[in-house]
Amino acid sequence: MRLTVLGSGTAVPHPRRAASSHWLEAAGGTLLLDCSGPAVHRMAEEGCDWANLDAVWVSHFHLDHVGGLAPFLFGTRHAPQTRERRKPLVVCGPRGTGKLLRRFDEAGGYKLFEQPFPVEVREVAPRAEFELLPGLAAETFSTPHTSESLAVRLTERSGTSLVYTSDTGFTEALAGFARAADLFLMECSFFRSKPIKTHLELEEAMRLARLSGARRVMLSHLYPEWDGADIAAEAKRLWDGETIEARDGLRLVVGE
Ligand SMILES: [Zn+2]
Ligand SMILES: [Zn+2]
Repeated sequence: MRLTVLGSGTAVPHPRRAASSHWLEAAGGTLLLDCSGPAVHRMAEEGCDWANLDAVWVSHFHLDHVGGLAPFLFGTRHAPQTRERRKPLVVCGPRGTGKLLRRFDEAGGYKLFEQPFPVEVREVAPRAEFELLPGLAAETFSTPHTSESLAVRLTERSGTSLVYTSDTGFTEALAGFARAADLFLMECSFFRSKPIKTHLELEEAMRLARLSGARRVMLSHLYPEWDGADIAAEAKRLWDGETIEARDGLRLVVGE
C-alpha cells in the first residue's frame, strides 16, 4: 500500500496543514481516508488519479473530515475526466453517512447522485468485517470521539495492514485493535495538556503505540499547537519505535 498525506491538519485554517485527508493506493484500487474540503484540490495537486478513485472512507461527520464530500461529487458530476467513467464510487462510513449526503444534496438541489457512474453508499457498524476494495479487508472499531466515529483496520492479501484511528479520545482497546499493524496512522491533536477528552495528546498516543506493537506510527490531525515542535524527537522520548510526523505531501510505502 502507498499512502500520500493530503491533509495533516484539523478544522483550524493553517498555512501548511490542510484539513484531514489521506490517499491510499492498495492492490485492489484507491481509497480516500476522509474527504476534507481541501482534499478535493489536494488530490489534483499531488497528482492522485481522483477521477478513478474507487472508494471514500468516512470516519465520522465532523466537517474537517467530510467537508469535501459533496464538493467532490459536484466536481465529478461536471468534470470532463469522469464523463466516460462507469465503475462505481463507493462511499463507506458509519450509519448516517447516506442521510448526511442526501441532506447536503437536498440543501442546494445539487443532483450529487446523478453521475456518469453509480455512487454506492455503504454504511457499516462498529466491529464490522467486510471487503472495502477487492482484496482489501476492513474491520471497524467504535472510538470515543462522536457517537458515530469509527477507526478502521485495512489488511491486504499480502498481510500488510494499516490502522487509521481518525479522531479519537484515549482508550486502551484501540491498541488491541491496532495490534502489530504495519502502519498505525493515529491522530495526535495535541502535544500536552489537551483541552478536550475526545482527542489524543502525545503521551497517550505513544502509550497506544507501545501497547499495540505496531511496526511504525504516523501522527496526523495536528493542531497549530504543534507548530515549531520536533514531533518525531518528542515521540522518541516516550516510545522507542519509529514515529513519522505527517506533513502534507508526504508519501510512504506501507509494509516496507
Ligand atoms: Zn478532526
Ligand atoms: Zn472530529
